[in-house]
Amino acid sequence: MSTSTPTAADLTDDELRALAERAGSELEGAHPREIIAWAARTFGPDLVLASSMGDEVLVHLAAATAPGIEVIFLDTGYHFAETIGTRDYYADFTAIHLTTILPLRTVAEQDAEHGPRLHDRDPNLCCALRKVEPLERGLAPYRAWITGMRREDAPTRTDIAVVGWDTRRNKVKLNPLAAWSQADVDAYVEAEGVVLNPLRQSGYASIGCAPCTRAVAPGEDPRAGRWSGTSKTECGLHT
Ligand code: SF4
Repeated sequence: MSTSTPTAADLTDDELRALAERAGSELEGAHPREIIAWAARTFGPDLVLASSMGDEVLVHLAAATAPGIEVIFLDTGYHFAETIGTRDYYADFTAIHLTTILPLRTVAEQDAEHGPRLHDRDPNLCCALRKVEPLERGLAPYRAWITGMRREDAPTRTDIAVVGWDTRRNKVKLNPLAAWSQADVDAYVEAEGVVLNPLRQSGYASIGCAPCTRAVAPGEDPRAGRWSGTSKTECGLHT
């Protein structure tokens, strides 16, 4: 008979879901550091953080709280050079273990199959091919994942839990920054000297792929620069 202590890896999906919902209540109001520390203790190697490098504060917090944490970065092939540079900085100089996930097809192969500039003609398909499928592949080995989503980001995110259950993937989903305001983020950046994507200095408040992101004016909704001029507001990773 095994005498080892059960870990999250031993739990059924139902048990994991109950654990996530309980933790969501207990950790509401906790500092993101505390939430990440709980996740690292609870899930160990079954935990991964998915970063777009537009969530530098989250990566900084995770590196400081859970050194060696697994991080996946989805390289869509359309990122700004500044975003790739930010990824390289965090991979090379902080205590994370970063894996870059590529889409199944290069941009050239996608162009050959679907025609050029698919992002202009069918951004949902482009996101499905270059973000959603790679994320599913990247998350597959893990039972819990961390995102940088905040309730303040968008009307679609106002009720996200700090720890909850991802019904689409049957995994625990952690949003340690859920309750943080932009002022909280800015204060952390200032206090900890967080290295930011240089695009922030040029008015890019929310940073995605280059063809689908523009800078915003002071006072403008931070996400107004994403898929600007279309009705699209989400890439499909969280919906
Ligand atoms: Fe394609 Fe734009 Fe989605 Fe990036 S954000 S995957 S370029 S549609």
